[in-house]
Amino acid sequence: MGKAGAKVFVTRRRVPEAIDLLGRHFDVEVWGPNSPPPRGVLIEKASECGGLLTEADDKVDAGVIEAAASLKVVANRGVGVDNIDVPAATRRGVMVGNTPGILQESCADFTFALMLAAARGVVRADRQVQAGNWTRFDPMPYVGHDVHGKTLGIVGFGAIGEAVARRAQGFGMTVLYYSRTRKPQAEDTHGVRWVPDLKELMRAADFVSVHVPLTGETRGIVGAAELAEMKPHAFLINTSRGPTVDSKALYDALSGGSIAGAALDVTDPEPLPLDDPLMTLPNVVITPHIAPASGTTITRMGLMAARNIIAALTGGPMPSCLNPEAAAGRAR
Ligand code: NAP
Repeated sequence: MGKAGAKVFVTRRRVPEAIDLLGRHFDVEVWGPNSPPPRGVLIEKASECGGLLTEADDKVDAGVIEAAASLKVVANRGVGVDNIDVPAATRRGVMVGNTPGILQESCADFTFALMLAAARGVVRADRQVQAGNWTRFDPMPYVGHDVHGKTLGIVGFGAIGEAVARRAQGFGMTVLYYSRTRKPQAEDTHGVRWVPDLKELMRAADFVSVHVPLTGETRGIVGAAELAEMKPHAFLINTSRGPTVDSKALYDALSGGSIAGAALDVTDPEPLPLDDPLMTLPNVVITPHIAPASGTTITRMGLMAARNIIAALTGGPMPSCLNPEAAAGRAR
């Protein structure tokens, strides 16, 4: 197939299959360093390319979008698009794609890994073994909390929240959910119960797992008041975006013992600096934003992002477009 003439900029060399696929259709430039291109580079590339394939830490703000002379599509390798100014893109006629439908199972696996790690002290125990402190059989310093049979509260019951609920069934857990929209079908299928009041869910749950997107409404959705409702033996798991949880309030709850522990795949800021107060606590497990990162899922995310670009630049329907109305604003 001949190349369509457009140029595509890929901000990291992470999924070679996606870069190869794009290369069959377009002239592709890949940012070499394994870190986000500086804003000036993004602006330059937005002004000369038809498509950008971006990562969660690439800030595609209104300034970048305004520079877009011939840009038609920004395809994020991920589901969350809080790094992209979608309204600005829509006004400018730039379509924004993401990758739903393929990462929820890997994210739900990882959410359970974090839940189990936090409750059963897996990471702390491993550190002790590695440090040479396994000198006799003595489980007592490692006595943790059961996960099976407990109550799980899910905040944001979308694709990932529902995949977490399915796993919780296997653990014999009672599952409550708080979400913008009630999901009667999921209630029937998974036996989950809708709790329309977030504080009520926080009060009832032994484990709270956050799965809302980061928006103006959800920034700090788990704050001091919500954390204050949690049981002293309860755990908070966050695999959504760092700012959905108020970090200072979480530190206070963890250090003051008003909750038992937390496991965070996402933090505010990212990366979390070594001198962040959360780093000093023994009852928090932190991973570097890797919930969907199995080899298979990373590849599928990259390929879906590439297909979003190919469709947008060749006039086909995008596998996932968040602002199809942008196409109407493209006459410029
Ligand atoms: P999703 O299918 O869109 O589900 C999000 C859910 O949150 C929806 O049920 C939505 O309600 C609900 N929600 C949105 N705003 C809300 C509000 N103000 N109050 C209460 N509920 C609200 O998304 P997903 O695939 O499950 O992913 C969720 C988020 O996880 C992503 O946006 C992303 O930020 C994060 N994520 C992180 C990683 C990672 O690497 N750690 C990987 C993938 C995703 P409706 O049903 O009404 O829309």
